[in-house]
Amino acid sequence: MNLMVFGAPGAGKGTQAKFLVEKYNIPQISTGDMLRAAIADKTAMGMEAKKYMDEGELVPDSTIIGIIKDRLEEEDCKKGFILDGFPRTLNQAVALEELMKNSGKKLDKVLSFDVPDELIIQRIAGRRVCSKCGATFHIEFNKPKVQDICDYCGTALVTRKDDNVDTVKNRLENYHKQTAPLIDFYKKMGVFAQIDGSQELSLVTEDMFKNLA
Ligand code: ADP
Ligand code: ADP
Ligand code: ZN
Repeated sequence: MNLMVFGAPGAGKGTQAKFLVEKYNIPQISTGDMLRAAIADKTAMGMEAKKYMDEGELVPDSTIIGIIKDRLEEEDCKKGFILDGFPRTLNQAVALEELMKNSGKKLDKVLSFDVPDELIIQRIAGRRVCSKCGATFHIEFNKPKVQDICDYCGTALVTRKDDNVDTVKNRLENYHKQTAPLIDFYKKMGVFAQIDGSQELSLVTEDMFKNLA
């Protein structure tokens, strides 16, 4: 199964993708996580991408399409995958179609989490992430068992550098301008599923799986 989680920054894509990983045993491919790993490794690509990420701007399409192409060719993607945070521009979506077509694959479903901007701001302001395993929590809506400690690996939780009010506004603006037009693209392909992402976390998960039944 080839899936995509879609929505504004902070809509809950990563959180819900983890449940898909558990259920279908296919990898989550998060371009954001891959870029952060490249930054941690101080690669040239990571250092270049960081400039855009810190400002809440999108990293250039050519960089992103390159990393996705390599990742989708890996062995673990053979049985399927969950795209998270990619594509974010029409160019990226078209490149993805091309890559999939060339390898005889097709996208089964785009799971889109609809969340109003005011709620996005609250979600991002309270987001805390594990710098080791990438798990995501929220100080109010999705608390870890022990404050500021990852439930899964015991590492201290941190606030992402780009999760600040100014950057979030820019990210949301870029989402509406550059990413939201993809909704029509995937509606036309007949794979788009809209989910009310403003609901409580478990209800969003329930709706998501209903769309896959
Ligand atoms: P969020 O969880 O807020 O949606 P991500 O972790 O997906 O954020 O992405 C963080 C940042 O990484 C983005 O603001 C952007 O700068 C960069 N990025 C991630 N994925 C892409 C992409 N597909 N195209 C361009 N930039 C990307
Ligand atoms: P994205 O991957 O789309 O950027 P995340 O999955 O990281 O979003 O979620 C953003 C923040 O909102 C996190 O702190 C997460 O714990 C929290 N969150 C996710 N889904 C919900 C929900 N349905 N209700 C409340 N908070 C949520
Ligand atoms: Zn962890």
